[in-house]
Order: sequence, then structure tokens, then C-alpha cells
Amino acid sequence: MDKPAICGGTPIRDTKIFYGHQYIDDADIQVVVDVLKSDYLTCGPKIGELEKKLCEITGAKHAVVCSNGTAALHMACQAAGVAPGDEVITTPITFAASANCALYCGAIPVFADINEETYNIDPANVEALTCKKTKAVVAVDYTGQSVELDRLLAHCRKNNLVLIEDGAHVIGTSYNGKKNGSIADMTTLSFHPVKTVTGGEGGAVLTNNEEYYRKLLLYRSHGITRDVSLMENEPDGPWYYEQIALGMNYRMTDMQAALIISQLDKLPVFSARRKEIVKAYDEAFQKLPQLFVQKEIPQSDTTRHLYILRIRPEKLSIDRKQFFEALAAENICCNVHYIPTYYFPYYQKLGYKRGLCPKAEKLYEEIISLPLYYGMTDRDVKDVIDAVTRIAVYYQK
Ligand SMILES: *Cc1c(COP(=O)(O)O)cnc(C)c1O
Repeated sequence: MDKPAICGGTPIRDTKIFYGHQYIDDADIQVVVDVLKSDYLTCGPKIGELEKKLCEITGAKHAVVCSNGTAALHMACQAAGVAPGDEVITTPITFAASANCALYCGAIPVFADINEETYNIDPANVEALTCKKTKAVVAVDYTGQSVELDRLLAHCRKNNLVLIEDGAHVIGTSYNGKKNGSIADMTTLSFHPVKTVTGGEGGAVLTNNEEYYRKLLLYRSHGITRDVSLMENEPDGPWYYEQIALGMNYRMTDMQAALIISQLDKLPVFSARRKEIVKAYDEAFQKLPQLFVQKEIPQSDTTRHLYILRIRPEKLSIDRKQFFEALAAENICCNVHYIPTYYFPYYQKLGYKRGLCPKAEKLYEEIISLPLYYGMTDRDVKDVIDAVTRIAVYYQK
């Protein structure tokens, strides 16, 4: 095999490929244009239509769409009653928003370690960290693989905790034959462009619980209601509304909703293609002892949002950073998901110390997110496999 590009070989490809990219077709563009020509740019018919569609796709009773996945997490924590003094257990291997949502409510994020093979939050660690102050668990379906919902839900029921699933990666995945979004107390989604389905920005909270649903509607829009049955006073007239809680403006526009509806029509093909790519990567990388392939629990039928290449440092003469740079030299432009949340200066200043979650910290040292998105060609997939193989073989110990 040829030398890696980083030590003078010819790059596997001459154009760069990135770790993620949205897929927008003419139908997507047309529905957005149609909204722009209509009467409603926000609070219009597309919002209810999207919420209905999310319920149909996931089996959840209610959906509340909002401006982004972070807003969805904030509202879910509020609806769960998370308040100052409470603790919220989450994983450090996630985007910062999964812990920030507890801070928004004045609560304290508590980091549980991960399972070293699936990389998802370890239920045993959640159980060990639960105390009288614990109010909720924010469990992240990292890479799109479902967390162990049975065990987490049983624990939350027993201890009167609210299970919030951060499902920013999970759309298209099911757990024990049921779609994620219909199982936890609340499941949040994100429609950021790197996610499987996009609206530019966008989010949603899914729930089967009426009380959470009513609260989420209020929090999305300033805590204001026009529903007379919820009002404290008699309406002054037909224009009347009341603010009965402290909410935000976390509304989604109709342009975003229309785009997401159109994207959701493609979810089955998005999902199928992602599964194909993951299968090709897994098959290629399983053969290389220098690499570790993410383990999948049998309960999860996963639509993968991210593909995590994990190196085994004891079998390589280079580290993750050098592997990452070697891939970049082949024009395979990757990313790393994620830096443990409590490594950030903001969290360090709050008093979190390195060493808190050893398995998560070890994982962070060994991972690279490879390109994975619907629009990848077979040639792109082959290039990634060839580049990874070339580097892993050249630098094996
Ligand atoms: C993307 C993401 C979020 C935040 O979603 P936004 O829509 O970008 O606000 C939260 N949690 C996880 C795990 C994510 O990947």
C-alpha cells in the first residue's frame, strides 16, 4: 500500500470531504418558497402540521416544536420542574447543551460515566449518583444509538425522577420496536444542519404526558395563553390574553417547519443510506485490530447520526491527533464528538475536576468522527475506508 499523504504519499482523494453535510432537494426549496408567499411566516399552519407528523413518525402523543434543540432541552427541564438546588444527571460525552439546560434552571449538572463499549451513559452509574436532590436524568442517545431506556426508566420511576432523553441524534432509531420519542417522559430533538433531518435550526419536545405538554406550550411563548379555561381573570374582550407563567420566545418559523416536514418525507431513505454506510465502515474496521468498533445493544435499531472511529493507542505508533491530521492530509476532514463537557473553562470554574468520568475521558482521547451523511457517494465511502486503512496499517505497532 502507498505511503500516507502526511509522509509524502499521494492523497487518497484530491477534493476535501467533511464529516457532515445537509441534503436539500428541490422539493425542500419549493415548500420554503411557498411559505414565504403565504400569509404566515410564524405561528401558521406548518407548525401544527409538523407536530402532527412528528407524532405519527414516533408514536408520541404530543410534540411541541421550537427554535432549536437547546431550547427544547431548556423547556423540558422547566416542564420537569427542575429548580435551584436540584441535581440533574447527564453524560459528559455530549454537546454542552445537555448539561447547560440544568444550569439554565439554576440546578446542578452531575456527570455520570459512560459504558466503554456503547459510549452511552451507564445506567449503573446513574443509579449510584442518584440522591435526594436528583430531579431528572438527561440521557443522550449518543451517535443515534438508544440509551438503555428500560433500565433508566425503571430507575427514574422508582426514585420519582423525570427521564429526559436528549434525542438530538436519535431520529429514525427505535428501541425494542418502539420509536425513540414515545418512551421517555420527554424526548428532545434538534434540526441543526449536521443532524439527520434539518430545518436550518429547529427543535422539538415529544411527550405522552398532558401536564408536560401544557407547560411546554406555555414556555415556548412567554407563558402567555389565550385559553380562557387557564385564565385567572375574566377576559376584557376578544383581544384578551394572559401571562400565567414565565416563558420564553422559543417559537419556530413556518419556513423551518415546512422544510422539516419535507425533510421528514425523506427520513426512510436518509436512514437506509446511513445504515449502509455504517455497515460498510463497520465491516472494514472490524478487520483492523488497531481500531475498536462501537458496540450496538440489540434493543436499538439505530439510524446513526455520527460514525465514531476509535483507535486503540496500544496498537498504534501515533495518537488520535496524529491520526486526525493524517486523515486531513488524505483530504478526509473529520471532527471529534465530544470534548467532555466539564473540561470547558466555564465548568472548571464551577468546580468540576478532570478525572470525574475516567471512561469518558479515555474515550475522548481515542475518537474521531468520520464523514457520515446521506449525500455521500459509494466512492466517498470507499475513500474514507481506504484512508483509514492506509493510516492504521502504516502506523501499526
Ligand atoms: C445538536 C445537539 C444539541 C443542541 O441542538 P441545537 O439545535 O444545536 O440547539 C443538544 N444535544 C446534542 C447531543 C446535540 O448533538
